[in-house]
Amino acid sequence: MTEKVLKTISNLLNNKKKVVIVGHKNPDGDAIGSCLGLYFFLKNRGHETTVVMPNDFPDFLKWLPGCAQILQFERQTQASMEVISAAEVVFTLDFNALDRAGDLGTELEKLSTPFVLIDHHQQPDDYAVACYSDVSMSSTSEMVYHLIQALEGHNEVSEEIATNLYMGIMTDTGSFRFPSTSATTHRVIAHLMECGANNSEIHQNIYDTNSPERMKLLGVALENMVIIKELRTAYITLSQDELDACNFKKGDTEGFVNYPLSVQGVIFSIIFIENKHEGIIKISLRSKGNFDVNEFARNHYHGGGHINASGGRSSLALSDTVKEFISILPPYKNALRHDS
Ligand code: 5GP
Ligand code: MN
Repeated sequence: MTEKVLKTISNLLNNKKKVVIVGHKNPDGDAIGSCLGLYFFLKNRGHETTVVMPNDFPDFLKWLPGCAQILQFERQTQASMEVISAAEVVFTLDFNALDRAGDLGTELEKLSTPFVLIDHHQQPDDYAVACYSDVSMSSTSEMVYHLIQALEGHNEVSEEIATNLYMGIMTDTGSFRFPSTSATTHRVIAHLMECGANNSEIHQNIYDTNSPERMKLLGVALENMVIIKELRTAYITLSQDELDACNFKKGDTEGFVNYPLSVQGVIFSIIFIENKHEGIIKISLRSKGNFDVNEFARNHYHGGGHINASGGRSSLALSDTVKEFISILPPYKNALRHDS
């Protein structure tokens, strides 16, 4: 973080403020963990702090300290609007453009309140008075930890903060295995454990909560997996009918896109999930090595993310989305065949 960004943030927080912290639509572990970690830190320092999420988040995150205090804009619109309009500082965490917060983002755009952006995605928009952006970071949760340190809060990392940040880092690094996991990440994790984060409990709470329906849906997804061997690519489809048959609940498909990458030789994986209600196909992309799925999602799916993990959407039908995908692959042949 630059001196200038740190100075702007500490000036904004130099007296008790009304603070709102916002994460992205369909919040994941890192969005929830970073927002709640920062929430407890600022609240403990005496700021009147509220976390507002654009919409609901998966059940496997609903044990986290502080999660019951989160306002969901979609369901609690009026209460959310009240805190947003009264806010003196707005922190936006784990996203790089206000439209990633959906309808909540549209409301945020109307404010003249100072914004602080904390995020590790590429190419952040220019809407914040303080932009703490670092694409080399494992997670936004790790960045919140560094911000707490920079604000001289080393001794203020409570068990609640530690648990949330540990969970956010763990989920965004695939349990500390993605290349973004640095030696510093492990040092941060060590300190969070010293502050009360219970690693094995957190792991169990997140990963050992499968419903039988989700396991069935995973079976369907793996059955549907198509491997294009010569392009080291694999894709999965899930239709609305298949989701319905497995009683799909939000979060159930989380992580499915990673499975094809465990197939020997596969470096590019993509999942197409039909959402009839929204009239879109939700797309998640993952890669290994230098193949840039952020660029792929930006070019073809109105999306973005990171080099090795991105997302987007298509408004074509499921089968047409797949046909289109296959038709856009040829120019990537070289990159897919020769990337390490
Ligand atoms: P996921 O596949 O888990 O939804 O998302 C993977 C990564 O891509 C996340 O870092 C997420 O922030 C980013 N991402 C997902 N969907 C979108 C999208 O529609 N637009 C942009 N810009 N990024 C996305
Ligand atoms: Mn993240």
